[in-house]
Amino acid sequence: MQAVPVTVDRKDPRFDTLKRGNNIRFPATDAEAAGRIVLCSDEAEVSAALQRIVASGIRPTIRSGGHCYEDFVANNPNGAIIDLSLHNRVDAPATGKPFRVASGARLGEVYQTLYKRYDVTLPAGTCYMVGAGGHISGGGYGLLARQRGLTVDWITAIDILTIDPHGKVIERHIDKAHDPDLFRACRGAGGGNFGIITNFYFDTLPASPQQVAEASVSFPWSSMTEEKFTRLLALYGDYWNGPGRTPETWGLSVVLTLGPSKHGAGNINIAAQYCDANGKASDLSILYDFFDRFAELIHPQPAGKSDESKAERYSVKLRPWLEATLAGSDSGGTVRAKYKSTYMKKPFVQAECHTLYKFLNSPNIDAHGFVLAVDGYGGATNNPDRVHDTAIAQRSSIMKLQWQCYWAEASEDAARLKFMDDFYTAMYTGPHVPHEYQGTPFGEHYEGCYMNYADADMLRYTHWPQLFYGAAGLYPQLQQVKYQYDANNIFHSSMSVRA
Ligand SMILES: Cc1cc2nc3c(=O)[nH]c(=O)nc-3n(C[C@H](O)[C@H](O)[C@H](O)COP(=O)(O)OP(=O)(O)OC[C@H]3O[C@@H](n4cnc5c(N)ncnc54)[C@H](O)[C@@H]3O)c2cc1C
Repeated sequence: MQAVPVTVDRKDPRFDTLKRGNNIRFPATDAEAAGRIVLCSDEAEVSAALQRIVASGIRPTIRSGGHCYEDFVANNPNGAIIDLSLHNRVDAPATGKPFRVASGARLGEVYQTLYKRYDVTLPAGTCYMVGAGGHISGGGYGLLARQRGLTVDWITAIDILTIDPHGKVIERHIDKAHDPDLFRACRGAGGGNFGIITNFYFDTLPASPQQVAEASVSFPWSSMTEEKFTRLLALYGDYWNGPGRTPETWGLSVVLTLGPSKHGAGNINIAAQYCDANGKASDLSILYDFFDRFAELIHPQPAGKSDESKAERYSVKLRPWLEATLAGSDSGGTVRAKYKSTYMKKPFVQAECHTLYKFLNSPNIDAHGFVLAVDGYGGATNNPDRVHDTAIAQRSSIMKLQWQCYWAEASEDAARLKFMDDFYTAMYTGPHVPHEYQGTPFGEHYEGCYMNYADADMLRYTHWPQLFYGAAGLYPQLQQVKYQYDANNIFHSSMSVRA
């Protein structure tokens, strides 16, 4: 029987809902929107749809979860979005066979199925609604990544559809022995570059943790001088540059959240999740040791030294891992948003602390809706062997920053985007950044940016490919792959690999 996907065109009442993804800035106008959305439920439907679309000279864009930070999926004037969200099976086809995750599966579904059926998991991201297709092909990192590495580190094979120079769809099952260069490129370079990934395979996966401890502390802006703020960032960075490097601490996942001071009313927060290598949270000494380092900044000064008093002070809560994992997810609601990223190899320098303090406190700067998440990074993500067999070059960082801004009205777009750009550029301008890389996180302190946190602002720098793919020759290899497997540049966006 011939595969028949669901096609939603501009006359269909579902079109306005389905034409956009999570970031409702895109498409900005009707003219920029795709002409149709083709919803496919399995590999055969995807293959047939892609062949029809390419044969009719229409541009395809590929969407799995629709959580792209830029316009790569939503903007395609009169083109076609091939939507894989109904192709969402998660299974292990037979005993002894690899686990298989279809690219349209949402991370929340993936976690639930892998846990309930097989008691394994992926060290992937925290949002329930993010799609495997974009997330995994761009790296895939989450609360278990320090302990278990990146999701791409676990992939053993991929099903992908490419287009040959004559416009014919080629179905490939790729691994280390078959199309190895394409296989490497699909493990980190980001989606939308080479073809349509339909399935990811994993020979083995990490066992699911059973229990985690969650904990947090807050530091009110009202008592935060620049000196204390700098000290807080120093304590945080020193941890990841010191104890955070030792394998015993890799079960600790932490985010420091820096929002604007709101005239002294807001808080700076540190939230942690911990489980040991056996997936339990019975001994919390590593968690307590981490939080104790900030004692000098906690007021009133902590009194008791017992585990009971620490559990109370740091709001420790023990939870089943699955519950904690699903609770941390958003519901996939839509927002206007802008994001940026930074990989940091070293603790914050004075100039960065000053810029952060200035922007987050200035009454003249409208930082409303802004949040900077500073993740403790490293651990298993920094396995040096993985530099050469995946397309994630950043394997030396100790912290990873996600710059975020959220707002509601289109009329605010220009001001919000300018604020983000100004703030980020100021952060990486000064003597801590080499002359040729001013305005960008590159040089001895940094490892550039994360492709899954796509940021088209960086295209204005000629070294943008090095920011996302490193300076060690990965990008030229990706260009070779592009030339070999997508010679007609069928799959492209503003930030895709140029042949
Ligand atoms: C709320 C939220 C939370 C997030 N949390 C995390 C996190 O914890 N960790 C993390 O690492 N990242 C996180 N991200 C970033 C996320 O990983 C990326 O935005 C990712 O690209 C989204 O994948 P998607 O399939 O949902 O997006 P889509 O918009 O569908 O696709 C993103 C890109 O991948 C391409 N693509 C999609 N599917 C395929 C496919 N099957 N084959 C080939 N190319 C494809 C698209 O063409 C596009 O270029 C988060 C994003 C959001 C919005």
